[in-house]
Amino acid sequence: MTDDSMRITPIGGCGEFGKNLTLYMYKGSVYVVDCGVKFAEVWQPGIMGLIANFDQVFAAYGAPTAYLLTHGHEDHIGALPLFYEDWPAPLYTTAWTMELIKIKFEKYRLSFKSKTHVVKGGDKITFADELCVEWLTMNHSIPMTCSLLISTPKLRIFHSGDFKFDPDPPYEQPTEVKALQRLRPIDLLLVDSTNSAAPGDSLSEKTVREPLRAYLRGDHPRIFLTTFASNLWRLLQVIEIAQELGKRVYACSRAIETSLEIGARLGLYDADRYRVTVITKTTRRIAADQAVVLVSGCQGERFSTLASIVSDRVRACALGADDLVLFSSRPIPGNELAIIKLCERIKERGARVVSVREDRGIHVSGHAHSQDIKNLIEVLAPKTLMPVHGNYSHLDGVQKLNCEAQVFMPTNGDLFELSQAGLKPLASEPVDDLYIDAESLVPLSFRTMKSRVRLGESGLCEVVGVIDKRNRNWLLPPHISNMTGIIEDDGIAALRQRVKDALREQLHSTDFANQTIAQVNNTVRIMFRRQVNLYVGKKTFVTSNVVEV
Ligand SMILES: [Zn+2]
Ligand SMILES: [Zn+2]
Repeated sequence: MTDDSMRITPIGGCGEFGKNLTLYMYKGSVYVVDCGVKFAEVWQPGIMGLIANFDQVFAAYGAPTAYLLTHGHEDHIGALPLFYEDWPAPLYTTAWTMELIKIKFEKYRLSFKSKTHVVKGGDKITFADELCVEWLTMNHSIPMTCSLLISTPKLRIFHSGDFKFDPDPPYEQPTEVKALQRLRPIDLLLVDSTNSAAPGDSLSEKTVREPLRAYLRGDHPRIFLTTFASNLWRLLQVIEIAQELGKRVYACSRAIETSLEIGARLGLYDADRYRVTVITKTTRRIAADQAVVLVSGCQGERFSTLASIVSDRVRACALGADDLVLFSSRPIPGNELAIIKLCERIKERGARVVSVREDRGIHVSGHAHSQDIKNLIEVLAPKTLMPVHGNYSHLDGVQKLNCEAQVFMPTNGDLFELSQAGLKPLASEPVDDLYIDAESLVPLSFRTMKSRVRLGESGLCEVVGVIDKRNRNWLLPPHISNMTGIIEDDGIAALRQRVKDALREQLHSTDFANQTIAQVNNTVRIMFRRQVNLYVGKKTFVTSNVVEV
């Protein structure tokens, strides 16, 4: 590594949706761009999400010098409170993102052990080693999103983060695409690939206005509208339309309330002019006429407000047959089934559902379509290009745009060296995922996760027994003390007896004399597992707790 070269490794977000995390290493410093979480999948019971194993990351590359956070979506900041205590470092981000991080830290009862710096578009931060980070405001589906120009005296990298070019955003300034030309020469561009397969330019956030207005003006006396709670621009548009139509707006979601509160605090939302009534647990039933209720749950989340309303668990508003439920959102990959199931339950209640499946006009993405990605590449003219933020086909979509830059297709953990000679792959050091338990927030390894899944699939059988320490005679022959999740309770006694009968001979003919107690337990565990399997037909999780006295 030459003194003025830089090492770059995308730890997460490549070949997957979520968990975005990229390290930039320069002169011994480690700059961490984004620290995201990834949604759990259906086969991962009780899991809140997945994060990278940060201990492994920082043990390999060194402790972080600074965290640079591009925007406040969970796939960019969600992991921060889960490892920050052990790896504190100064934190740089915009006011909106910082507000969200503060809320997270309060929730987790964490304190900032290092300085926090609120930045805004146009700011340049130069670190001691002469690495400079310029923050560039971009349009996205959450306020105050930035791309980063990371430069050293010899190298210039553009880290796009999540972005799109919105020519006429409703509440922000548009990004002057041509003006980005001043950032040239760019040695490397890391670009958001999420929507690389979507043709043409990105659609403006404003395009949802008229389609949503048509539904709000329609015959349904009450409308439940769900969207991403962090999309303040969408919430504000709905609130404005509702007010114009003389409807009363309610917010029935802590996350939406939070967005509006932050919006008001940072001067992005005029709470006096656009009144929203907050629905809490104690709110009495609201009038069903002329009401627009903003709710969370657009991803079909089991414990969301929308799911609670559908299950009649919200006193203020039970779902009725005249209601309309609008999903002004898209499914995040992996959540499709949960959303379909929730929609089915809504329809079962007699209410009408409209999502992007029925009307594409009620949602637009915050990610650049292929033409926007092309425009960014053209205006920056990078020597090398690395698609990030997406599954393989998203990344491949950027490659297929046939731009002039040399394209490097990364997988998580690939280590690159950037110098004036170009970008060079060095090695690949995959980082383990940790599974975050939804209740305790304790990180779990893959091994523990696998045991949890096996327990869920196969149930638990516990065996106990007592063996003589010296002559290895059975003082209490091993027997099933408990079975959970295998068969119905009234069948357990019969199964217990059958296993006992089947193993009686085997236990006495097996030579335990030279076995340690650990070996005895292992032998007993295998014997019982085989027998239980004979009866229930599956590899049950068996624990053996034989003690020696
Ligand atoms: Zn985002
Ligand atoms: Zn993202």
